[in-house]
Amino acid sequence: MSDHPLAGLAVGDLIDFLDASPSPWHAVESTIARLPGFVRVDEADDWTDLPKAGYVVRDAALIAWRLPDGPIDGALPLRIVGGHTDSPCLRVKPRPDSGILGWKQLGVEVYGGILNNSWLDRDLGIAGRLMAADGSNVLVNVSEAVARVPQLAVHLDREVNANGLVLDAQQHLSPVWGVGSPGIGEFAAWIGERAGLAEAPTWWELSLYDVQGASLLGADRSLLASGRLDNQVSCWAAANSLVASSPTEHIAMIVLNDHEEVGSSSRTGAAGPFLDHVIERIVEALGGTTADRLRALSQSACVSSDNAHAVHPNYPERHEPGHRPLANHGPAIKVNSNQRYATSAATAVLFEQACERAGVPWQVFVSRNNMPCGSTIGPITSTRLGIATVDVGVPQLSMHSARELCGADDPVHLANALTHFLT
Ligand code: ZN
Repeated sequence: MSDHPLAGLAVGDLIDFLDASPSPWHAVESTIARLPGFVRVDEADDWTDLPKAGYVVRDAALIAWRLPDGPIDGALPLRIVGGHTDSPCLRVKPRPDSGILGWKQLGVEVYGGILNNSWLDRDLGIAGRLMAADGSNVLVNVSEAVARVPQLAVHLDREVNANGLVLDAQQHLSPVWGVGSPGIGEFAAWIGERAGLAEAPTWWELSLYDVQGASLLGADRSLLASGRLDNQVSCWAAANSLVASSPTEHIAMIVLNDHEEVGSSSRTGAAGPFLDHVIERIVEALGGTTADRLRALSQSACVSSDNAHAVHPNYPERHEPGHRPLANHGPAIKVNSNQRYATSAATAVLFEQACERAGVPWQVFVSRNNMPCGSTIGPITSTRLGIATVDVGVPQLSMHSARELCGADDPVHLANALTHFLT
């Protein structure tokens, strides 16, 4: 028996998290389920009586914190782990009932940078939130196969293997979900009934998702396949690390933003005011002034955790030869001197030290000069709040596919490293 705070944490719990989180709203619920003893506070409440371990939810974003065991004042620095709850997918349009030639179809909108082809010929469920007639939010998850985006047969597209598959997002991604003539209001009535509502909802935010559950893969079970690994792996690791952390001289915090995949500009995205507001409220509840808050921010640090690209065995030329992360060799520290990642030499050391204390291996990712580099909430959070930030992430293949792949050990490595960063 180890006395490590995360002893016993295994990838099986991550599989449960992924399967229970087919939408960002569900990811928030799954995160809350992993914060036992944390007290929920509402943004509309008075925070004078700030809970020592608490959380606040704004739509599909969540911030949770743990105050230190040592002395508490309004200028306490923060240690923050950031991630995002959203993943690229197909979303059901407001007026989805459509179809032609004896097929019932759903109108869908592309959310974020999906790999179009990865959504073909999969059994799709539907999950997200509905607005009930009384104005309340109702989460719904229809987890059986109800829709499918059918690919054109090779007989009708003879050149597809030679020329590559070209899909028009408006024309070719509409799933079928039955046969017959589409009826106006049919989808609303059906989803309302599935959610147990008395009346059909008028508004919703619903994602389609692959109903095949997360699973270990490989003869040695060394890999993990699932939808939404980017970035629910980080949400899961963040929640578990916050629970296992025991800060003494700083506030430990996690922030899980929505809308990272579409640029982060929203009230719940990293470019919005959510984190700023919550830090201001906490500092004020602890008796701090504006100067105390700025003192705290100047000494704070953030790990922006979002998956990295593992080296692809079939496309090694797409990777920077000296910085190619491997599966199950630990989280990668992501560096980009053009500030697509927020990592500096000083913040990289912080994460390296956390890995060393946790006994976790780590790697470095840099993209090729002749290829554009992705980005994360890291530079945005760092720019908005002035917090020193390091970008890290679990290496994976098939990023933004409907079904992604990573090493089965790396999520646990990440959680262990984050626990030491927050402690
Ligand atoms: Zn991501």
